[in-house]
This record gives sequence, structure tokens and C-alpha cells, in this order.
Amino acid sequence: MHKSHLALVTGANRGIGFEVARQLADLGVRVLIGARDGDNGRKAAAALSKAGTTIESVQIDVADALSVSTALADIAQKHGALDILVNNAGILIDGPGGFSSSVFEMTDETMTATFATNVLGPARLIRAVVPSMTSRGFGRVVNVSSQAGQLAEMGAGYPAYRMSKAALNALTRTAAAEVGQGNVKINAVCPGWCRTDMGGAEAARSAEKGAETIVWLATQPDDGPTGFFFKDKSQIAW
Ligand code: NAP
Repeated sequence: MHKSHLALVTGANRGIGFEVARQLADLGVRVLIGARDGDNGRKAAAALSKAGTTIESVQIDVADALSVSTALADIAQKHGALDILVNNAGILIDGPGGFSSSVFEMTDETMTATFATNVLGPARLIRAVVPSMTSRGFGRVVNVSSQAGQLAEMGAGYPAYRMSKAALNALTRTAAAEVGQGNVKINAVCPGWCRTDMGGAEAARSAEKGAETIVWLATQPDDGPTGFFFKDKSQIAW
């Protein structure tokens, strides 16, 4: 049923987003690789393109409102309306050199930059894309969150990242509640700890495994869930 649907995956030039793009394209979805660096996006699209699949790239920096509106206008003109939006782009910049900072060391700059990408980006994309999904009666939005933002299990460290993912989860629930129980599904997902630039080489699972539940949510049938948080295709606590 998802063949010929049009998907935008943000931050898809590497890591989990790249794998999501690959897996969606393998299912026949027309995939747009969102990348904040145009060359990196084109390289990723070229790496994934093969006969029978449609993979193109779109330059989109989710932290930049003008970049988002320009990219969406470009998509509408060249490809038409989006059916699937995967808000995957994210940053983890708490502390120098990847070390976890504490709430008491965290800077305003870290908070501001983290929220600009991890929260404002998905929020402005949802605002711009979901009304058209609602009026067309179809849409799948997947917000790539993290158990680091799970209030039920909240621990110390990575405060800006944790708060941003908790806010992304709140955005997921609020948007899903406002859209209601129709055929536009908005869910959040934790991909698990994955071997990417963000997750590091010691992570327990591959990016391919991390992408699985994201793709599963992006291709849910009409009676699929909305307004929930998932990991490994099972609902988890917020
Ligand atoms: P990654 O390897 O660091 O890749 C992040 C991607 O996001 C890159 O393509 C990056 O683009 C892009 N990006 C960052 N800021 C952006 C912006 N302002 N606009 C557009 N794109 C932007 O990270 P990952 O591990 O694949 O993580 C993907 C998602 O999964 C993130 O939301 C992350 O929080 C979440 N997650 C990851 C793990 C894990 O263990 N890896 C665990 C839980 C959740 P550039 O190449 O231009 O930098």
C-alpha cells in the first residue's frame, strides 16, 4: 500500500536516517534524502539509487526556518505532496568531545542549538506538512526520539539532549491529539543505541536494526497506532 508514496527523511545522508531511506526505498516508497549539506545529500542519493527506486536529495537544514520552507516549496513543485515525514535529524552536543555534561555545567548555547535542531525542526516540519496530510486523508509522521528523553526512566547527564527528546515526545502526543484518530498517524520511536557517528563504535546495534521500527511506523496500515512511543515495534512508556 505504500508503493508510490512520497517520503522525506531528514538527516538521511548518514547514520540511521540513511538506513531508513534505504529500507523505505526497498519497499517501493519514493524517498527524498534530506541533508543540510547539498553535496552530502546528492552523494547519499547516488549511493542508494538503483533501478526501480526513486531516491533524490533535498537540501534542508531543519534548524533554519528559511531552509525548511524553501525545501518544502521545492518538494511540492518537483514531487508533489509528502505522504511520509521522518523527523530523524538530530544532534547530541552535551559536553565537550561527546562527554556528558550535567545540568550544572550546561550552557545556554548548548540548549539553544540542541532545541533548534531536535525540537524546533520537527515542529516546523509538522506544522508545514501535516495540514496537507489531514486534508488528503493520509499521512505518517515518525519522530525519531530516544529513551534518553523517556521521563519514566530519566537519569543524569546529557541534559540538553534528554530535554529535547522529552520535548519531541510532547510534540508527538500533542500533534497526534490535535489531529485525532483519522488516517494521519504521528508517533515517536527510540531506535536503540546504534553504531553511528552519534552512537559510537561500541553501540550494541547496527543502524540497519535502528531503522527497522522507524520504517515499520512509517508504513503502518490505516488502522495503525497514533500518539505513542515505540521501541522494537512495541509501545514503551513516555
Ligand atoms: P548521526 O549519525 O550523528 O547523524 C545525524 C544526521 O542528522 C546527519 O545526517 C546530520 O547531518 C543530520 N543533522 C544534524 N543536524 C541537522 C540539521 N540542523 N538539519 C538537517 N540535518 C541535520 O546520528 P544518528 O545516530 O543517525 O541519529 C539519528 C537520530 O536517531 C537522531 O535524532 C538521534 O537523536 C536518534 N537516536 C540515535 C541513537 C543512536 O544510538 N545512534 C539512539 C537514540 C536516538 P550532517 O551530516 O550534515 O551533520
